[in-house]
Amino acid sequence: MNLTKKILIALVLGVIAGIGLTFSSNDFFSAIDTYVLNPVGEIFLNLIMMIVVPIVFVSIVLGTAGLGDPSKLGKIGIKTIGFYLVTTAVALVIGLGVGLILEPGQAGTFDTENASYEEEAAPPIMDTFINIIPENPIEAMSTGNMLQIIAFAVFIGVALAILGEKTSGIHKLFEQANEILIFLVNAIMKTAPYGAFALIASAIGEAGLDALGSMAMYMVAVILALLIHGAVTYSLAIKGLGKASPIKFYKLFFPAMSVAFSTSSSSATLPVSMKMAQERLGVKKSISSFVQPLGATINMDGTAIMQAVATVFIAQVYAEPLGISQMLMVVLTATLASIGTAGVPGVGLIMLAMVLKQVGLPVDGIALIIGVDRLLDMLRTSLNITGDAACAYIISESDKRNEKDQAEQTA
Ligand code: ASP
Repeated sequence: MNLTKKILIALVLGVIAGIGLTFSSNDFFSAIDTYVLNPVGEIFLNLIMMIVVPIVFVSIVLGTAGLGDPSKLGKIGIKTIGFYLVTTAVALVIGLGVGLILEPGQAGTFDTENASYEEEAAPPIMDTFINIIPENPIEAMSTGNMLQIIAFAVFIGVALAILGEKTSGIHKLFEQANEILIFLVNAIMKTAPYGAFALIASAIGEAGLDALGSMAMYMVAVILALLIHGAVTYSLAIKGLGKASPIKFYKLFFPAMSVAFSTSSSSATLPVSMKMAQERLGVKKSISSFVQPLGATINMDGTAIMQAVATVFIAQVYAEPLGISQMLMVVLTATLASIGTAGVPGVGLIMLAMVLKQVGLPVDGIALIIGVDRLLDMLRTSLNITGDAACAYIISESDKRNEKDQAEQTA
């Protein structure tokens, strides 16, 4: 049986086991979770997290060196950031639209009296930009600061490209390190079905289904908006800009989506999503290794959708309807918030506080959605990394077309 099938089965079994566990006694769930699900899930998570920093660093160095010309990197960078900003804005508009049509805030009674949310400090967006160049690259790696690691790796890659023959030894060393990391990803992916099963069953069992109740419509709205963005926006972009088949894209990229679903972390999924893009979709390594790590850090369309629906939901619950200018404000601040959101579980909710404050809605409203957020995090993370891969695929396909055209012209 191939890996995709195995992961799919693990996913379905994980959901069934998770739902089954919500009916069991608390003691039974906590015993199973503590001694089986949690250890298996955490070991899998640690295995993939272990190679995230080395793989991002090594592959960006090689990717940048492979592009040769730094101006080419600039062009890819502009296209990538343009794609990320536009798709995030579209995602927000879809989220707002679905929220306004389905009116999840009118779908039940909500206890706003007792809702209170202790706001956590969100990182100031400007700091993210200012600190892109690391003062201490080793610290950036030890703390997993992705943007700083990307910046440092780009510098090394450009230097390797310019120095050429002089540094061919260390270039070779990076290539060999890359071989080792790819070997490790392949080995770790063999354990993915077990890890995914354990993580999913544990997350669903822990979140429980009691929280659903009147939140069902909110969940439906988020899920519907996620589906629309995946099925329409990305498909149109892949077909229109990449001149490629969206069906093929989704079929071949699926294992990465399921790892994102089970880990709820874009960063942890990076090694797998890069592997799927490069090996299965044929995305050029130099493009994938730059576009995808950047996306896992700054591009979060699924998170943006949750934030848009949540803002509309909270506005409806507190009967403070949003005007057009406030909605534009949501698009602007949530796009920025998605850049500042780290690719780890649950951060999207912390950044939501910033969006709510900007439009003058009560931050306490977050308390209402917290109970169902863990489950939605799984889905939105899948969409987050799909957007990154779609961008890499499109840029790579159009690059290949350009090269072909040029070759034909010179022939
Ligand atoms: N878990 C999401 C991610 O890693 C971020 C979030 O929305 O909380 O992409």
